[in-house]
Amino acid sequence: MESLEQRRQRLMGPNVPTFYRTPLHIVRGEGVWLWDVDGRRYLDCYNNVPHVGHCHPAVVEAIARQASQLNTHTRYLHERVLDYIERLCAKFDHDLSQAIMVCTGSEANDIALRMAEAVTGKTGLIATDNTYHGNTKFVSQLSTRRPPIGGYPGNVRLVPAPDSLRPVGGDLGSQATVFAENVARAIEELEASGHGFAGFMLCPAFANEGLPCLEPGFLDPTVEVVRKAGGLVLCDEVQPGFGRLGDAWWGHEILGFRPDVVTLGKPMANGHPVAAVVTRPDVMAAFREAFGYFNTFGGNPVSAAACLATLDVIETEGLVENARDVGVYTLARLQDLSHPRIGETRGHGLFFGMEFVAEDGVAPATDFAEAVVEGMRDRGILLNRIGRKMNILKMRPPMPFSRSDGDLAVEALGEVLARMPQ
Ligand code: PMP
Repeated sequence: MESLEQRRQRLMGPNVPTFYRTPLHIVRGEGVWLWDVDGRRYLDCYNNVPHVGHCHPAVVEAIARQASQLNTHTRYLHERVLDYIERLCAKFDHDLSQAIMVCTGSEANDIALRMAEAVTGKTGLIATDNTYHGNTKFVSQLSTRRPPIGGYPGNVRLVPAPDSLRPVGGDLGSQATVFAENVARAIEELEASGHGFAGFMLCPAFANEGLPCLEPGFLDPTVEVVRKAGGLVLCDEVQPGFGRLGDAWWGHEILGFRPDVVTLGKPMANGHPVAAVVTRPDVMAAFREAFGYFNTFGGNPVSAAACLATLDVIETEGLVENARDVGVYTLARLQDLSHPRIGETRGHGLFFGMEFVAEDGVAPATDFAEAVVEGMRDRGILLNRIGRKMNILKMRPPMPFSRSDGDLAVEALGEVLARMPQ
């Protein structure tokens, strides 16, 4: 009989990504738990989309209620989306007071890049050399997993990503300065090439880059360089946003800089496809003037209801505080684990990375990381890998993750590591 995997390939074509050597067939979720088709339960230590917990009843109910009353395109007046934008913008500690609602992080980043073009009248863009900002034609030019056919366009420059174990410039102490110098050099090149410089897009947790350990202020020299050149700082908060890092609602607050544009996505409505771009009125006005943007589904009444309910749950259940408390506790326990292949264990809030390295303490131990991910799955714990060489364990559970959930994950990881070759 045709398996689900074969059927997927027949109907969706080859190379559609799945996790694990044998993909999981998940049929139900609740809180931090997932169940597969055979009734086996897994602790979800990976998914940030079900931010307030899988199938949270308050979000499910809000979606159902609004869907049974009205859902339309977005060219009618409706208060719900405005209620949401008002509450969302109030979460920013500076002058980001307007938003565009869209459906995916990719769309949001596409708009952010175009905002930089609209404000500066230039097209040069900078990102790090180990990142992912989305899948549209425009945004994928900044993604390094699969270089664009025909190579990167002349208006794009990629600067070496920050790294805890292999710092840019070779030294942790000067990494922030060297990083900024590389951005300055990229700006000079863009200006010399005639494209000019429009903006620098970055994730403030450098999540896809491998979640390096960075001090507050790390980006200050870079932000200064970007501002001096007249470009925009475009902050992709798709992964760290909505309190994941525990100490603040947004990743940029942890590093302590003020972006011109912030993009949001994945966790925003607990699984309902909605995303947003938040910015200052002057940037918004320049963008609206240049592009006259419209999005059929973005911020429709059902999406807005899902967003509002998600925000309510984050607040009423104290999930940012939970991320801080459980994050500190779990990170300490993870850091107590030992194995010669562990190069560094790091994290912030409910976002953890454990980097595996070879005997020299630097070369990535990719196969080791893969074996650990598979071993954890066998023990009913779901997590995954990131990094240039996919050698960094990535744990990013739903926000209601508790201390005892952390205990389960750490104890399973200890058992898996104990069985791995030394
Ligand atoms: N930015 C970052 C940092 C992401 O990790 C992702 C998705 N992995 C995106 C943008 C794109 O979001 P979406 O898949 O919703 O288009």
